[in-house]
Amino acid sequence: MEISSARHESAPASVDSREDTRAQSRRAKRSPEKIRAFAGAGTLAHMSYRSRQCHLQSVLAANHLDGLLLTHLPNIRYLCGFSGSAGVLILNGKNIVFFTDSRYTTQARQEVEGAQVVVSRKNPLVTAAAWLKSRHRAMRLGIESEHLSVAAEARLQASLPTRFRLKPAPALVEHARMIKDGAEIAILREAALMGVGLFGVLKKVIRAGVPECHAAAELEYAASRAGAEGMSFPTIIASGKRSALPHGRASTQRIPAKGFVVCDFGVILGGYCSDMTRTLHVGRAGREARRVYAAVREAQQAGVDAVRPGRSVGEIDRAARKLLQQFKLARYFTHSTGHGVGLEIHEAPRVAAEGKELLRPGMVITIEPGVYLPGKFGVRIEDTVVVTERGCEILTPASKELVEI
Ligand code: ZN
Ligand code: ZN
Repeated sequence: MEISSARHESAPASVDSREDTRAQSRRAKRSPEKIRAFAGAGTLAHMSYRSRQCHLQSVLAANHLDGLLLTHLPNIRYLCGFSGSAGVLILNGKNIVFFTDSRYTTQARQEVEGAQVVVSRKNPLVTAAAWLKSRHRAMRLGIESEHLSVAAEARLQASLPTRFRLKPAPALVEHARMIKDGAEIAILREAALMGVGLFGVLKKVIRAGVPECHAAAELEYAASRAGAEGMSFPTIIASGKRSALPHGRASTQRIPAKGFVVCDFGVILGGYCSDMTRTLHVGRAGREARRVYAAVREAQQAGVDAVRPGRSVGEIDRAARKLLQQFKLARYFTHSTGHGVGLEIHEAPRVAAEGKELLRPGMVITIEPGVYLPGKFGVRIEDTVVVTERGCEILTPASKELVEI
């Protein structure tokens, strides 16, 4: 679906980076990895909630909907700023109303923009249904079928007359969220740079004999002290044979005297996630380890170099995969090349071989090929990049040289 001009007005001025990615990595090599403390949400650029709401209202009719009932919290946060854990947002052609429960009376009034706030002691879904009944005789109401549970849908339908038809809506908000505006890119950049600084902590604490969970704990402690709201996902510290697990969450295993350690982590700032992976080597890397590391690094660079507006996400995936084919390692690359990042750690677009979505300036995606040799070791290298007018800007400019500890 087309993004309306209302979206383009708030679109990314700061995306148009003239720097190429090599200049950025040269700069990264010069500057030590220092943890940038986050000065707080009050320092963030203002999000353009009103233009997001107008855009969504403008596409309702084209999607054969009279209104939309949103329950997915990242979508609600994107549209009106509410960061709590319980809420329902209703948009129709005229009104935008946010419903929450009485735990959030103060917070909702502080955070919500562009929507009327209704606070009730009841479940917000029930309050929202009563509001709809009082305003509409009948309607085609879009629901987020990917996110609304079967039980919640049944409760909603039971609270509404049969003249209200619940229809699974297309992923309209997720589609809009793919293109980040200037304020979003600024906070994503800040979060990514905090991640780069935290990688310096990992390089200090990862040593033979240290449990993986201790390394993860040090990282997360440093992140909290720097002002992170939390981690984007459970930190992955996967050492030795466990490095061949693409999602090896930090365990109690002690880091072996020799071998790779895959470190994949991210922080949340202002609701936005960062995501990066670097793979360290404890002890001196042997020939096979070096060869695999070099292959993954080249594949990752090929993926980054392929990013530019107009290319499909499938082409980016194939660029990285082709490199691994040349090393006869493509069969060990068992996941897709990347994903969108924003208010959620995994969001559209998915950077996968079959993906048709075309890249556009303002998209923020990861490029993260990996090679996993079961029972032996694994290597993954991941950057988060923002698509610019000419190519991309790497938001995670930490060195990708093989580090032997
Ligand atoms: Zn990651
Ligand atoms: Zn990722």
